[in-house]
Amino acid sequence: MAFVFDPPPQPAARIAGGGLFPVRRIFCIGRNYADHVREMGGDPKAQPPVFFTKPADAIVADGSVIPYAQATDDLHYEGELVVALKDGGKNIAPGKTDDLIFGYAAGCDLTRRDHQRRAKDAGAPWDTAKGFDQSAPLGDIIRAEEAGDLSAAQLKTAVNGETRQSAPLSQMIWSVGDIIAALSEQFELKAGDLIFTGTPEGVGPLRRGDEVAIEIGPCSLHFRIGE
Ligand code: MN
Repeated sequence: MAFVFDPPPQPAARIAGGGLFPVRRIFCIGRNYADHVREMGGDPKAQPPVFFTKPADAIVADGSVIPYAQATDDLHYEGELVVALKDGGKNIAPGKTDDLIFGYAAGCDLTRRDHQRRAKDAGAPWDTAKGFDQSAPLGDIIRAEEAGDLSAAQLKTAVNGETRQSAPLSQMIWSVGDIIAALSEQFELKAGDLIFTGTPEGVGPLRRGDEVAIEIGPCSLHFRIGE
């Protein structure tokens, strides 16, 4: 049977050194750095982390100009370490996750904070707050063997050259292994999945023309909000 129209292109992320990583799903974790949980008005130990998703075609390549998102007056950056999987499974033990990791990237979980506030107040889903078009800028993926051990790396987000977020990955409440294990209790993970691992304190609004730079060890991401 033929498709009734051309299927959309496969979303893909660039790999440092060459090649493309076909993106299957984008999972995200909320509330994974204690200081950010506090700045959002929560208690870090009160609840387990929340998981949410973005559509695979929300990724935007390094160096892009992204239009200010529609339907919001409060677009926020959230600098995050992103894990790219080359294999998956269900109910994976926390100690068995390293072999599933293809590599790491710096990502930005762009958020319509006004929508998120309304959703939280109403107990409503976060889709319009998190899963909108071009909401997942992603730097080139660094292969795991080249990235080395990132557990002591510092996550830094700068807007127009001014540091807004700076925190060691060691401040994560849930480690990368913990996140993969917990996600795999909810979903069967597969090659091509990306996981945004949460943001530290210092999130804030973006304005038209802002330049955003996120660095985590060897991983980096730069993008600009267009007019
Ligand atoms: Mn986030």
